[in-house]
Amino acid sequence: MAEFDYDLVTIGAGSGGVRASRVSAGLGARVAVAEEARLGGTCVNLGCIPKKLLVYASHFREDFADAAAGYGWTVPEPRFDWGTLIRNKDREIERLNAVYDGLLEAAGVERILDRAQIEDPHTVRVGDRHIRARHILVACGGEPLRPDIPGGELAITSDEAFGLEALPGRVLIVGGGYIAVEFAGIFAGLGSRVKLSYRGPLFLRGFDRDLRSALADEMRRRGIDLCFETEVTAIEAVAGGLRARFADGGEALVDCVLYAIGRRPKTDGLGLEAAGVRLNAKGAIEVDAFGATSVPSIHAIGDVTDRVNLTPVAIHEGMCLSRTLFGGEATPADHTDVPSAVFSQPAIATVGWTEEAAREGGRAIDVYASSFRSLRHTLTGGEEKTLMKLVVDRDSQRVLGVHVLSPDAAEIVQGFAVAVKASATKADLDATIGIHPTAAEELVTMREPRPDPA
Ligand code: NDP
Repeated sequence: MAEFDYDLVTIGAGSGGVRASRVSAGLGARVAVAEEARLGGTCVNLGCIPKKLLVYASHFREDFADAAAGYGWTVPEPRFDWGTLIRNKDREIERLNAVYDGLLEAAGVERILDRAQIEDPHTVRVGDRHIRARHILVACGGEPLRPDIPGGELAITSDEAFGLEALPGRVLIVGGGYIAVEFAGIFAGLGSRVKLSYRGPLFLRGFDRDLRSALADEMRRRGIDLCFETEVTAIEAVAGGLRARFADGGEALVDCVLYAIGRRPKTDGLGLEAAGVRLNAKGAIEVDAFGATSVPSIHAIGDVTDRVNLTPVAIHEGMCLSRTLFGGEATPADHTDVPSAVFSQPAIATVGWTEEAAREGGRAIDVYASSFRSLRHTLTGGEEKTLMKLVVDRDSQRVLGVHVLSPDAAEIVQGFAVAVKASATKADLDATIGIHPTAAEELVTMREPRPDPA
């Protein structure tokens, strides 16, 4: 009998786990992947994909209500049906679950649909099977944090938001990160009255400050009640809904309280500590750049390591790990200049250094910025502002950061992320011809830096 049943057993069939399993199998490894829920993980089932579908759905109201008339369209009173949206979204996710199953099957990866637990550095128990693995990969992701306040159990998280039976009329969202801001736009666009409560002075900490303020203005213009420097202290069920109490004595009566205060790695009950795997204070698995844990045969990638918690990063880490373990080439994951987007309305997308981070780091920088109303809104009468910023290193003229607030921000910044990754300079951008008329051309036509605040 062979010493090991598999060369690799992956725990968790999310974006990272599936990619690592498929690529490893392609490199000749015998691979099995265990998954206790549905194939595709958070991104496919309870994250990026259903979120983006809901974002698309929520845009129609504004298009019908404001935009269409200026272009000559008369639209009868539009009606929205939450049930239809959720059913259609669920059908698409089931299709993707099957696509993932097919991809794994085609790669020759065995799928074991059950909960896995690590018994020792080379053994994984799944159901009543004790599987011997040369390498174990933990890629089981994270889960939303839940509020630790009286009545906290009455609140939902993004996990439940995707399956609500009805669109809530009044929603309180707590948090100021990606999920809070995205769901505020989704619910408001679909017709809910939305209040967002964030503990700090301005949401989306870590993003460019000008974009954050401009987005706050845009969200307020869309009727979202943004309450900064507030804290919810209790929630209670009352006649007519849920009453949230705030630290300053205020309260809000709503139909739904959605908490989006971050996520935590799903490491409980996996047998990691007993196997000798070191976790950090937040319960995340400690790894080096190669995905190696404190146990040589156990590796980890993705949100369970709590580094850069984004799907494409988990996929990249998975590819690197496969190459390291089975491709004969030690490949560290590269976490520099990772672009990302908040699918707010309008969206924010960003790559590289923000102005604040560059200045705090003591760099001499030139900042180029442009704020304008896009061509589309000249006929809609819409006030929506587009904002673009470039952060350029003054000495080397390298473009350090690109930041965009625009409905198309994510599509625009993906391309500019290539330029930043390739160490493009401001002169390279200046030498690039714009595509006219677009919003994106602004990024290659900004000539005068802002006056230096110093
Ligand atoms: P984030 O980590 O983005 O933000 C958490 C927010 O909750 C912050 O505003 C934080 O405030 C606040 N917060 C934290 N703890 C508390 C608390 N105890 N009480 C009140 N507020 C609190 O988390 P999200 O839940 O929005 O998203 C989780 C992760 O999922 C993201 O970090 C991202 O990696 C990923 N994601 C990515 C998306 C994308 O790429 N478009 C979309 C959705 C999620 P403070 O700033 O003061 O710390």
